[in-house]
Formats: sequence, structure tokens, C-alpha cells
Amino acid sequence: MTIRPILIHPDPRLKKVADAVAEVDDTLRTLAADMLETMYDAPGIGLAAPQVGVMQRVITMDCVKEEGEDPRPMVLINPRVTWASEETSSYEEGCLSIPEQYADVERPAEVEVTWMDLEGATQSERFGGLWATCVQHEIDHLDGKLFIDYLGSMKRQMITRKMQKLKRERARA
Ligand SMILES: [Zn+2]
Repeated sequence: MTIRPILIHPDPRLKKVADAVAEVDDTLRTLAADMLETMYDAPGIGLAAPQVGVMQRVITMDCVKEEGEDPRPMVLINPRVTWASEETSSYEEGCLSIPEQYADVERPAEVEVTWMDLEGATQSERFGGLWATCVQHEIDHLDGKLFIDYLGSMKRQMITRKMQKLKRERARA
């Protein structure tokens, strides 16, 4: 498994719609393993393939936070929300592509998601709490959408300027 570099906003690849996965092959299995490794290393609770520059509809997540609780690494291929609750909840979100920036985002509190697993089988599950926020945030990435797109334009531009500065600093380092 390899830790892959994570793209930092602004990057045109983070604004593109990713392609559906046609079949699970070795390349895809390697991608999924690398994404999990990269996500845990960051550390983060979710990662979408476009964040490592692969324009395919694949996300990984593990929102288990309690000390002593078993990790639950999940790989969701071609995930889509099939149902969303009317009730919403607000979480302070962050993103591995927008380091050290956080903002409250309101989303449906519960969602039902259908996806293909690494065996090519269809899975579906209802997510709540942090899992619901995370899965919606990651699916947004597959559609070229970032959590800052939910914020006002002033706040979004301020964060984007900070990221441009961060990228310049990293390029010089
Ligand atoms: Zn993100």
C-alpha cells in the first residue's frame, strides 16, 4: 500500500465530476487500499478518489472515533444517496484538501446510500450522525463540490486565498 499525495484546493481536478466505475479490477483494489492508507495517515475520516487525482467514483471512510472501538474501513464504489431525511444537522466540517479550515455545514441528518463493494456486490445502508455528514461530504467530492461551496462567497474566497498562500509556501519549501 502506498500513501498518495492529496491535492490541495484550488485544483481543477477537485471541481470535476468523476466517472462511474465499470468494474472492480486490480487497479481499483490498489486504489482503494492506497486511499484507506492515505486517509488513516492524514489522519482523516473520509477521502474521495479525486482528492488523490483519480477521477473515479470511489470513496473511503471510517468515522469510528471512540478509543478502543474497532475501526470500520469502508470502500464505497459509485455511491449515491437514495433517501435523505427532512431533518437536518449541522457539523463543523473540514477537508484533507483544505487543511486547517473548518466551518459549519448543514445537511440532511440521515441518508440512505447505495454503492458497489470491492466484491462487485450492491450494498445499501442508512447513515446517521457523523457518518451521514461524512458520506455526503465525500459524495460531493465526486461531483466536484467542496464543503466551502456551502459557505458565503466572502468566507469561501478568504479560505481559497489562504490555500493559495499555503500552496505557494509548500512549493517553495
Ligand atoms: Zn473533503
